[in-house]
Amino acid sequence: MLLLNPGPVNLTERVRHALLNPDLCHREPEFSELQARIRAGLVAVHGLPSERYTAVLMTGSGTAAVEAMLTTLMSADGRLLVLENGVYGERMSNIARIHGIGHARLSHAWGDSIEPDRVGAALDADPSLTHVAVVHHETTTGRLNDLAAIGAACRARGRPMLVDAVSSFGAEILDCDAWNIQACAATANKCLHAVPGTSFVVARRADLERDDPPARSLYLDLRGYLRNQDAGGTPFTQSVQTFYALDEALRELAEAGGAAERRAHYARLQGIVREGMQALGIAALIPAAESSVVLSAYRLPAGLPYRALHDRLKARGFVIYAGQGSFAESIFRVSTMGAIVEADMHRFVDAMSAIVSG
Ligand SMILES: *Cc1c(COP(=O)(O)O)cnc(C)c1O
Repeated sequence: MLLLNPGPVNLTERVRHALLNPDLCHREPEFSELQARIRAGLVAVHGLPSERYTAVLMTGSGTAAVEAMLTTLMSADGRLLVLENGVYGERMSNIARIHGIGHARLSHAWGDSIEPDRVGAALDADPSLTHVAVVHHETTTGRLNDLAAIGAACRARGRPMLVDAVSSFGAEILDCDAWNIQACAATANKCLHAVPGTSFVVARRADLERDDPPARSLYLDLRGYLRNQDAGGTPFTQSVQTFYALDEALRELAEAGGAAERRAHYARLQGIVREGMQALGIAALIPAAESSVVLSAYRLPAGLPYRALHDRLKARGFVIYAGQGSFAESIFRVSTMGAIVEADMHRFVDAMSAIVSG
C-alpha cells in the first residue's frame, strides 16, 4: 500500500530492518551512544551550529514535542502570540489554554497566508507579548508559512518564535538562526522517514540551560530531558526500537544528500501530481509557489465524495488523506513523505485518471 498521508510513512527496507536490532536497555552505554548520535544528527539536518543549538528527544508523537516546547519555554510571566491559519496553529492556542499560558490569537481563515505586517502590528499593540508561536508547514492546507518574513517582523520587535515544524523538518528550508527561531518541534515519522514514537525539540541551548521557572509538566519538561541526555541518560524509558529506526533514517537522509536533496525530491513528486491533477481539471487549493513540497490539497471533483474517492484509490493501492473540519467534504490531500519514487506518483495520477473518467 502506498501511503500518501502525511505520516506515518512508507519505510525503506533499511529503516524497517533497523527495528530488528538487538534488545537494548536504556541504561546501557550502547543506548547513550545511539541517543547522542541521533541528537547530533538532528541538529545537523538543517545545518545548525552544535555549540548553540541542541536536540532533546522524547517518546511521544509530534504533539508531545509541541506541547513540551511551549510549556518549557514559556515562563510564568511570558505571553504568547499564536498565529493561526489551520488546525495546528489552533492546536497551539489550545495547548496554551490548557496549561494556563497567557496568550493572544492572531486568527486567519484556514489556507490564508499570514501577513508579517499584521504580526508586527499585533506585537506593537501589545507589549506584554513575549513570544510568537507559528506553524511552519500548516498541514491542514499544505500552505508553507513564510517564516523568513514573519521572523523578520518578530526579530525587529525582539520577540523570538516557537515553531511547529512537525511536517517540514527535514524537507523544507528551515533556518532557525536567520529566522529568529528559539525552538522548533518535530517528529521522527514525517519528513525524516522513520517510525512513530519519537519526537524532538531543537532549541537554543542557552534557553534550555537557563535557570528556570518551576516546570509546568513532569513528563514534558525539556530542561529535565536535556540534563539527563547531556549526561548520557534519559529521565524516562525511551522507545528504543524507534531510536534505532530514526538513527538509520538520519544516516539514509545524510547519504542521499540531506534536507536540500529531499526537498528537491519531494518537489519533483509534487510536480508530477500537480500537473496530473491539473490535466484532469482538479484544482489545487494553494498555488504551488505558496505550498509546501511535502503536501498539496486539491478540491474534490464534483460528484465524487471523499469517501468514494478514498475507497476507490485504496482498492488500487493508494491511501490519500481527508480534509479536516470545514474542509472535510471539499478537499483531499496528497503527501510526498516516505519511500516514494516518481513512478509511484505517475501510477497515482493514472489511477486518479481512471477513477475520474470512469
Ligand atoms: C502531524 C502534525 C502534528 C501532530 O502530529 P502527531 O504526531 O499526530 O501528534 C502537529 N503539527 C503539524 C503541522 C503536523 O503536520
